[in-house]
Parts: sequence; C-alpha cells; structure tokens
Amino acid sequence: PWHVTRDRELEAAVKHSLGLEVRSFKAMVAAFEPWEVRQKGQKKDRLEDPLPSVCRQLSGPPSGWPASVELPDLGYGRTAGRLIPPGFRQFNERRQALREAGSEGDPKTDDWAFEMRKFWKIGEHAAMERLEEWLLDAAWGCYFPPGLHPRDDAGGRFRADKRWTAILSPYLRFGDLSPRYVYARCRQTLAFDMRRLFTKRVVWRDKAYAQLYRWPESHTTSIRGHYEQESWSGTRLQLRRWQRGETGFPLVDAAMRQLWKVGWMCNHLRHVTAQFLIEHLDLSWKDGFAWYDYTLVDTDVAINAMMWQMGGHSGIGAWNFVMHPVYAGKKVDPEGAYVRRWLPELAHLPVEYIHCPWEAPAGTRIAANVLINGVYRQRVIEDLLEARRIHQRNVIAVRKRFPQYLDKDGCEVIPLGGGKVLRLEVRDDIRENDENKITLLMTPDDPRSTVRRNLGFAKGVHSTLIYDETKRFEAMYDAFGEF
Ligand SMILES: Cc1cc2nc3c(=O)[nH]c(=O)nc-3n(C[C@H](O)[C@H](O)[C@H](O)COP(=O)(O)OP(=O)(O)OC[C@H]3O[C@@H](n4cnc5c(N)ncnc54)[C@H](O)[C@@H]3O)c2cc1C
Repeated sequence: PWHVTRDRELEAAVKHSLGLEVRSFKAMVAAFEPWEVRQKGQKKDRLEDPLPSVCRQLSGPPSGWPASVELPDLGYGRTAGRLIPPGFRQFNERRQALREAGSEGDPKTDDWAFEMRKFWKIGEHAAMERLEEWLLDAAWGCYFPPGLHPRDDAGGRFRADKRWTAILSPYLRFGDLSPRYVYARCRQTLAFDMRRLFTKRVVWRDKAYAQLYRWPESHTTSIRGHYEQESWSGTRLQLRRWQRGETGFPLVDAAMRQLWKVGWMCNHLRHVTAQFLIEHLDLSWKDGFAWYDYTLVDTDVAINAMMWQMGGHSGIGAWNFVMHPVYAGKKVDPEGAYVRRWLPELAHLPVEYIHCPWEAPAGTRIAANVLINGVYRQRVIEDLLEARRIHQRNVIAVRKRFPQYLDKDGCEVIPLGGGKVLRLEVRDDIRENDENKITLLMTPDDPRSTVRRNLGFAKGVHSTLIYDETKRFEAMYDAFGEF
C-alpha cells in the first residue's frame, strides 16, 4: 500500500510540475492488480474464477524484450548494507581490504556471502536460464506432491535434498522475471497437468498482494484482531537458537542454516520451521516474520505476512496440520543428505539417527563424533507434546476471552464494517476449544517409535495433508472474494 501511495504522489508531481502524461502498466502481478479483484459488470469475483481461466485472458508478454537497466545504474551499490549489523559489516570490510590489497583471501572464510554467491546467479539473464532449466524438470512431473503423480516414482516437491521446486522466487520478487512471462512459457512448453499446480502458485502472489492491499497492516498486526491479546511463553534465548539453527532438531537447524547462508529454503521447510517456532516454542509469528524478512532473498512483505499470519492462527486462512520436526525429516530428507550438507557436524551419523541424534546409542554417537551439547546442541525442548499443549492453551485462552468472534461450529468471524462479517477457517483441533485435544496429525505419539525412525519416503498422511492444505487455501480465497 505504501508503494501505491508513493506511485500516486510521483504521478501527481510529474504531471503537475513537468506537464507530462503518465501511464502505468502491470508489472509485478501475473493476472490482476489488487484493486481489480472484482471485474466491471461481473457478479463473480476474479478470486472465485478457476485460476487458469483468469490467466487465459492474458495477452502474452511483449515479443521484443525491452531494454534493461544494469544493477549499478540503479544505485544499489550505494545503499547496500546500510542496515547490516556492524559485526557483519566489519566482516565484509575485511574482504574489501583484502581485495584492495590485490588478494581474494580465502572466500570460504573471508566472505560471509560465499554460499550465497555460489547458490545464486544474479540478474535477468540468469533468471531466464533458471526458468528454462526448471521447465525441463517440471516436464517430468517433479512438482507434484509425492504420491500424487500418476507415475509413482515421479513427484516430490517437498524434498529438501532435491531442487524440485522452481527456485525462481527472488527473480520474481525483484522483477528479473515477470510472472506473466513465466506463465506464458509454462503454457508454451508444459502439458496442462504438468503446469497446473505450479502456475496456480504463481498467481497466489497476486492474491497475497490483494490481501495486503485490503489489510495494509497485516505485516505488523493480526488480521483476526483478538489474537493481538495472545500470551506467548517462548523466550528470547529460544528465539536466538531458532534463528541460528541451534535447536537440536536437525531438520529445523539445517533449514535455518541454509536460510542464513543462501537466503532461501523451499516452501515445505518454511512450514516446518515456522511451525516449530509457533507451535513448539510458543513464540509469536511476528518474530518469525521479522527474521524471514531480514534473511530471505525473496522476502516479499505480502506473501511473508500472509503465510506467517496463517501459521499464527490470525490470518485469513489456517493450516490444518502441525509438522513434526523429526517425522517431517524422514519424509523430505530420507537419506539425510540435506542435513549432512548443512550440519556437517552430524555427517557421520547413520541414517536412522540423522533426524534424531539423541536417540542414537552412546557408542554410535562416539563413533560418529557427535557429542550432544559439545559438537551438536541439546534439544531446545524435549517434550514436544507438552510444548504443543502450552501453545494450544494460549490460543484457546484468547478464543474464550473473545467469544463474540466464534461461530457456532468453532470457526471464527471478523467484522468487515457495514454489519458484514467474514467467516474464517480454524484448525480442527483448535475448533474444539479443548487444550487436551491437540492434533496428532504429523505428531506420532510414541516418542521412541522405531517405526518412526524407519519411515521411508512413501505416500501417506503427509502428502494428503499438504494437498488438503492447498484446497483449504483456495477455499479461503473464495471466502475472501465474497465482499
Ligand atoms: C512462513 C512462510 C513465509 C514465506 N515467505 C515468502 C516470501 O517472503 N517471499 C516469497 O516469495 N515466498 C514466500 N513464501 C512462499 C514460498 O515458500 C516461496 O515462494 C517458495 O518457497 C519459493 O521457492 P520457489 O521459487 O522454488 O517456489 P515454487 O514452489 O516453485 O513456486 C513458484 C513461485 O510461486 C510463488 N509462490 C509459491 N508459493 C507461494 C505462496 N504460498 N504464496 C504466494 N506465492 C507463492 C513464488 O513467487 C514462487 O517463486 C513463504 C512461505 C511460508 C510458509
């Protein structure tokens, strides 16, 4: 919204002081601007349209590519790093000093952005290259959730150890790549079934912008206002351990270290780490939002706020599952390759203990050189179920304090003004308002289960749940389009 105000001011200034005619064009959205949610003369909302039909109305992108401005011409070099904490700046100054002295130093130790430079190729040309590479992968069906592809061995976009999502988000965020161009290339090259799930997500960006436009404070304030009164029991120390990837849960730690080092992690791991913070550490979604905003190279206030609010129960939609940090690890990183990559201190643990090193017999740990609380951190919390109950209690306390926002079936409503209310989904277990009934979906109740340790990467409740989440997500937008 602040960009809209800025653009209007600029437009007015250019018109009045220079007497120029100002025209604007769609740039960052794939299909519709936030204020175009309702089409002229149509009863139905764009958000209620099946997405592909919305997109089919689009004209293709321009054929001759417009001239691009080089990064240095935008002046980024003059402002970069202004808000970086002094400690990091010093570190970069060291690299700078080395370069001025004619040496690159050892990039691994002298350049904090070493992994980031290795992971990303920057710029428009690189974005186009990545898109073409991605289209080849998408063509064999890698973007399907595991188990849902007609061919059993295909699919698996939740995998942490593979590059089976587009990895295009920073390019889309900064405009190296236009979502309309991405959509058009998908239509040219992929069969409908192969592109459907992916293009839907590209259009979700537009929906996130529409949501931020409608609730401009949603990056700082709960959309379901009563959740502003929620108590949180997590500590600052626990927050630090989450941020630094020192929770003692390998999948969470590996993801948080990847985030720090390359500024990105796949969507599935964003769910795992977000729910670890909120559901298990009982820390506010606002802390998570702020850290992601600081570290993600694709940070986008609209998407980030929408997703964190959903995780924190206060958004327009609600996730109907809770990721278990060990169980999720077995699913998305079955061989432990991802954990070994980002947590080299666990590299020698046998696969059955890679996601739960505390369960390994002492001899195995010694052989693998894993000393808990020496080489690797002790778990930040041990009783995950009790941790979940503490959080659940705080959520239910808010709901009981504000019964006026509860619907008969336990769902919630928020006032929209003019006597209208918007009905919103609530996770099944919270809906019951009973702190002892927490969902065990994703949470095996036997903490020492060998079955859990040996779980393979197979279809099952996990895939079904995420698929279910996708459907809910769309349903929520149908509701949002009603007013
Ligand atoms: C807690 C949380 C915070 C997030 N914060 C951000 C953020 O700040 N910026 C951001 O771009 N994405 C965010 N996402 C959404 C998603 O995780 C990333 O877009 C995705 O992981 C980027 O990788 P990709 O390009 O491989 O995605 P793909 O899965 O291949 O998707 C393709 C593109 O679709 C768009 N997209 C994907 N998922 C969503 C979504 N849920 N909502 C809107 N657009 C989507 C992105 O532009 C993405 O590049 C967040 C998700 C969670 C759970």
